[in-house]
Amino acid sequence: MQQNSSPIETARQTLLQLTQRKLPPTPDNFRNVYDEITGIKSIDQSLELGKTLEKVLLKAGKQSPKYIAVANAIAPLIEKNDWAKVELQLHKLFPSAGSESADEAVSWSVLIRHLLKQLEVSHKGVTLSRKKEGLSKVLINFANDSDVLAQKIQALINSWGLSGTSDAVVTDGLATHADAAANTNAQASLAVSAPSPLQAGHVSVQNSALWRDMLLKAFELVIIPGLEAVSETQKKATALLSRLQQADGEQALAACAKDLRSILLAIEIERDHQGKIHDSLIQLLRLVLASMGELVQIEDKWLYAQTTVVGDIISKPLSVNTLYDAEASLKELTYKQAQLKPALTEAKDTLKKMVTTFVDRLVEMTESTSDYHDKIEGYQQKIATTENIGELNLLLNNILEDTRAIGLSVQRTRDEFSQSQKQAQEAERRIQELTAELDYIGQVAHQDYLTGALNRRGMDEAIAREFGRADRHNTMLCIAMLDIDHFKKLNDTLGHATGDEALTHLVRVLKDVLRTTDVLARYGGEEFIIILPDTPQDEAVKVITRVQRELTKNFFMHNNERVLITFSAGVAERIAGETPEQIIPRADAALYQAKHSGRNQVIGAEKISEAAKTL
Ligand code: GH3
Ligand code: MG
Ligand code: MG
Repeated sequence: MQQNSSPIETARQTLLQLTQRKLPPTPDNFRNVYDEITGIKSIDQSLELGKTLEKVLLKAGKQSPKYIAVANAIAPLIEKNDWAKVELQLHKLFPSAGSESADEAVSWSVLIRHLLKQLEVSHKGVTLSRKKEGLSKVLINFANDSDVLAQKIQALINSWGLSGTSDAVVTDGLATHADAAANTNAQASLAVSAPSPLQAGHVSVQNSALWRDMLLKAFELVIIPGLEAVSETQKKATALLSRLQQADGEQALAACAKDLRSILLAIEIERDHQGKIHDSLIQLLRLVLASMGELVQIEDKWLYAQTTVVGDIISKPLSVNTLYDAEASLKELTYKQAQLKPALTEAKDTLKKMVTTFVDRLVEMTESTSDYHDKIEGYQQKIATTENIGELNLLLNNILEDTRAIGLSVQRTRDEFSQSQKQAQEAERRIQELTAELDYIGQVAHQDYLTGALNRRGMDEAIAREFGRADRHNTMLCIAMLDIDHFKKLNDTLGHATGDEALTHLVRVLKDVLRTTDVLARYGGEEFIIILPDTPQDEAVKVITRVQRELTKNFFMHNNERVLITFSAGVAERIAGETPEQIIPRADAALYQAKHSGRNQVIGAEKISEAAKTL
């Protein structure tokens, strides 16, 4: 090739070639192309260095197998020029020096202290001489490699713990597993996987303050408050916390570990207990709903539909929101029932009265007609036996009078009958009307009974209608999602009923500020959705901000005191063709952002749909 060119010219040619071949100018690429141009293979010094290193390690391996392991591990890495991994492998030779392998390093002082203690502690089935015998075998077999030696000593100690009394294991507080390789005990064929006390001990040297702090915090902030229902265990845990805070010796800690075990056991039992109560309650509710549903299935379609709705809600995995939905449905159910049932009962009562009157009248009439029959029979006999015209005349008059009387009675009864019949028909018509109304409410109820905003069904229909309109007219539309701030706290401090009033107040203020074309729906619990047709995002943000301002002027009053309600909101403008399932999560994400930026804020959503992001 161009063997006669100057090195500078060759370098220039090399760069030119790299550009033409579109190769990145890495040292390797440069060297390869340079060698190609000059026709001479240059020596890769790093490769040479790698080979030398490997050779030295193999030689050192005659003293300790760990060098051979590293030499074998680095050989393919040198071939691949993977120097970063070569370095990692080399670090393994100096465990305490490299930061990555620090966790695996041996803390001999911890191990020896542990060993001495375990030699003293009595372990069932393992005598001291047996312990010493095992230890001396390990010392002879693994004296060449300090890392392996430490592991084997640790495994040996673990094996004593395995065959020992449970006390010994508990006092140790940590040792539970053994290493099969170094175990002189028959039981030690169990595998190792958990961190050894040696490693844990080492970690505690470096991070003990951090561990201690985390444990104390978890105790104070999570475990103790969570034991409200079991005051006895809570007291024990509180006492243990103060002991843990003061414990400074290994013995004190070991005693704490024992108490901790009993507290953890109590927590586990309580958790199982709570779980069972929870499951049983749900089961009970399902049972009540199922039998209620069966009872009313034919008689009352509306009630049946509602039991199905609640049943559906609680069949899903439970969350606060599903429970609120279930509660809201049940409230709606009882509310509507309370409204319509009295009228229905009244109508049914009227019908019952009609029937009773009818029967009474029938009895009366039968009685009076049988009287009449008796009388006529009497007259017949008299007529047969009498010859006297005057007497006959009198008899005839009596007959006429009685007949007229019975006629009048029949007439009266007939009038009463037709009157009753009319009333009965009216009552029946009313019953049918009310039953139909209840059925209809079940099918088409669109309003949330508490706030008067649309409910979920109403919202779904409004969204379908407004999205359709926006598509037809090619107009924009915004969805705003609101969630009251710290509403749980308001409920907790002022009561659930006041919480309900606060919700109604918010809806009143919202309806005042929103335009008539905007649609307000209760999305669930204390979350609302507003559809703002024909509105761009910045405009919608302004509208919702106006609601926030209005809330600071138009206070919610409780017991003559002002209670400030604030909310956070996310607003998303609909991207053409976007479905409710796409835009609502965007508004929700903006709401989430508003919550995390300190609440009482309105944030506009990003104008990229989740679907578009994944494209
Ligand atoms: P955040 O600011 O994070 O929203 O706090 P928050 O307390 O409002 O939290 P979250 O939204 O999770 O809590 C909703 C609470 O709203 C739970 C429940 O106490 C309350 N809630 C939901 N529905 C109703 C209802 O119909 N009436 C009443 N009074 N409270 C409800
Ligand atoms: Mg909420
Ligand atoms: Mg909230």
